[in-house]
Amino acid sequence: MSFPRLITFALLTSSLLVGCASTATRLPNISERALRAESIVQENTALATQTDYSARLLRVGRQILHANAGLCPKTRRDIGVVIHTEENYPRELRIAARRELGATDTPSVFLVAPNSPAARAGIKSGDVFLIDGNPVGPDSLQEALEAPTVPLTIQRAAREMTLSVTPNTICRSRLRLRPSSAINAFANGRNITVTTGMMDFTESDDELALILGHELAHNTMGHIRKVVGNLILSGFATRYTRPFELESDYVGLYYMVRAGFNPDDVEAFWRRLADVDPRSVNRAKTHPTFPARYLRIAAAREEVLAKQAAGEPLVPNYKDDADE
Ligand SMILES: [Zn+2]
Repeated sequence: MSFPRLITFALLTSSLLVGCASTATRLPNISERALRAESIVQENTALATQTDYSARLLRVGRQILHANAGLCPKTRRDIGVVIHTEENYPRELRIAARRELGATDTPSVFLVAPNSPAARAGIKSGDVFLIDGNPVGPDSLQEALEAPTVPLTIQRAAREMTLSVTPNTICRSRLRLRPSSAINAFANGRNITVTTGMMDFTESDDELALILGHELAHNTMGHIRKVVGNLILSGFATRYTRPFELESDYVGLYYMVRAGFNPDDVEAFWRRLADVDPRSVNRAKTHPTFPARYLRIAAAREEVLAKQAAGEPLVPNYKDDADE
């Protein structure tokens, strides 16, 4: 009997027995009380871990978006807060999110980015933004921030207060965290999405900044629009994506250095990715190979560091018309 068939047989047998089974062994007893207590431990640690991921993404990502506003074709005004409601959490975790994170059905501040206008104004987790006396979520807050002067009213416990906050101008892309063990990040022109698998895999904020810089470059260089354009024109988009990946690696390295992150040895990311995904080292249909990316990032770093040493502006070398 082949192995897969054995598995099928075992599954079939176990599913037939559900409901009327008695096991052959006597299992140790656990109490309902211990089970409930352990559930709370696991809910709490899961939420604490997700909160850490979100805080790191906000801290590193906002620094990239802020430092590169001058190179981003589209910007927005931002004070550095993440607002949440209980709806932002999976249904099974909402009671825990209420208990542990103070999430309710009213939008309230979840995280405040360090060194942000919100942090300087003393905005705290749990504060509720009010417009015309009503609590507002992130979209209405964004609209309010685009107005020339920004007096913000917040409610903290039973008190209302008005704060004067001067927003920063940052790149328009929004940061998103996706719970997934896959090591991945995406850009869609508007958002930058990073998986929790990627958050774990990046060993330092510098490496995370490399990834975020890369994804921001896809958005600022209009790659999504160009790929879609190529798709419509040629019916075959993938062969056009390889140069865009290399361009994003190149421009993204500038973005991370401009934001104050350290590019020393940051290309080691690609060697470590080869360790966990050896089949992809030399086989890449749509993306450049890992060795090519490793070497090109190292080369780009030399270019950036030479400019830095010469006191030149840290701006990528754009093609002029003569290059085309
Ligand atoms: Zn990419």
